Amino acid sequence: MFDVIIIGAGASGLVSAIVASRRGKKVLLLEKNAKVGKKLLATGNGRCNIANQKPTLNRFYSQNPSFIEQSLEGYNFQTIKQFFKSIGLELIEAKEGKVFPLSLQASSVVELLEYECEQQGVEIRCNVEVQQIYKENNVYTLQHTQGKSISAKVVIATGHVSAPQLGGVIDGIRFAERFGHRIIKDFPTLVQLTSPRKDLNQIAGVKVESKVTLNQGKYTIQKQGDVLFTAYGISGLAILDISRFVMEQLFHNPTVILHIDLMPKMSHEQLASLMKKSVRKKSQKPLDVWLQGFLNKKLIEIIVEGLKLPTLIESQIGVKHIEKLVDAIKDFKFEVNGSRGYKGAEVATGGVDTKEINPLTMESGKQKGLYFTGEVLDVDGDRGGFNLYFAWVCGMRAGEHL
Ligand SMILES: Cc1cc2nc3c(=O)[nH]c(=O)nc-3n(C[C@H](O)[C@H](O)[C@H](O)COP(=O)(O)OP(=O)(O)OC[C@H]3O[C@@H](n4cnc5c(N)ncnc54)[C@H](O)[C@@H]3O)c2cc1C
Repeated sequence: MFDVIIIGAGASGLVSAIVASRRGKKVLLLEKNAKVGKKLLATGNGRCNIANQKPTLNRFYSQNPSFIEQSLEGYNFQTIKQFFKSIGLELIEAKEGKVFPLSLQASSVVELLEYECEQQGVEIRCNVEVQQIYKENNVYTLQHTQGKSISAKVVIATGHVSAPQLGGVIDGIRFAERFGHRIIKDFPTLVQLTSPRKDLNQIAGVKVESKVTLNQGKYTIQKQGDVLFTAYGISGLAILDISRFVMEQLFHNPTVILHIDLMPKMSHEQLASLMKKSVRKKSQKPLDVWLQGFLNKKLIEIIVEGLKLPTLIESQIGVKHIEKLVDAIKDFKFEVNGSRGYKGAEVATGGVDTKEINPLTMESGKQKGLYFTGEVLDVDGDRGGFNLYFAWVCGMRAGEHL
């Protein structure tokens, strides 16, 4: 019999296994994939944005914000840095507080976590999918694809349904429900968005540094970064960042309008002045060719069509035309109606209701000896290392209290 069985060798499961075994616990770590840390390998485009140096509370979301506050209290970036140093992984800080492994390889994170588990005597079994959990006389029996295992305590570190191609499943939620936990409904976040526009093929492939504003319901949210127009809708870092807020709005509205500033580095006045100065009085150049001096050709077609401008040549372009063009460039309205779903999502919102979890230990308030860590809980974070930050903290907390 094991002291602890941890279900899921992802971010939080690996850390809780190490911390618990360092404290003398006999730990069994069960993973349904053929290898540990499959999702971790894909993080940060293979570089693993392992944490953020500034994990302020407003970067995390839950129906129960006080859980976030209490669970993160007492831990900070230094705690995480120390932990990774203790397994031999050095970290490097980048822009916006983002932190990466010094090797810039997610595989280093996975390999050093796995190596430390082995050093500490954690028994890791891959290709084992846990199907049911039973509790009798304070002992947990786990039924899985290779038989049964028993333990005094169980950690559900199964993640959530995001990225099913990397192992995202609903299993943890199912186990939680079986033990009487309330579940907060999920939706994909950090995800690409779909659009009902008919002209998408015209702009598919265009990538621009933009500022995206969502001005609907209770929100005015702005995110700046790459925007990539695609055949299904829109993607890019600024879109992933704003997707959580858009998805919330799509619960109440069939479509949402994004206001995209296609030239955020210039003010309205600066762009208008630049355009006005560039108009040459005798030029016969067609408007769409003239505009190529400022903007991507594919976007020009859509903008000019949308403005219904007459067929103009450069010498005919007046102040009114320029004002209209600048308005359209600085506030390009793009309708969205959904997301690419969990296959494209980095994270699932929702999960096990944290009102029923002890934020200091991650233990269930309903079943003694049952713990939940990471994405299976109703906590998600912004892009930038916040989701892994939460997973590491949960893993440490559970590991320390097991
Ligand atoms: C493409 C992508 C990129 C990302 N990049 C970043 C990033 O750079 N920075 C960041 O902070 N976050 C990132 N994230 C989010 C981050 O990876 C997750 O939030 C984090 O891995 C969650 O950790 P976890 O421990 O809860 O679960 P996971 O790491 O998802 O691990 C859960 C494990 O449990 C296993 N499992 C599930 N059910 C069972 C079962 N029944 N039996 C046995 N095993 C089971 C799964 O196979 C999986 O290995 C990214 C996500 C994706 C999809």
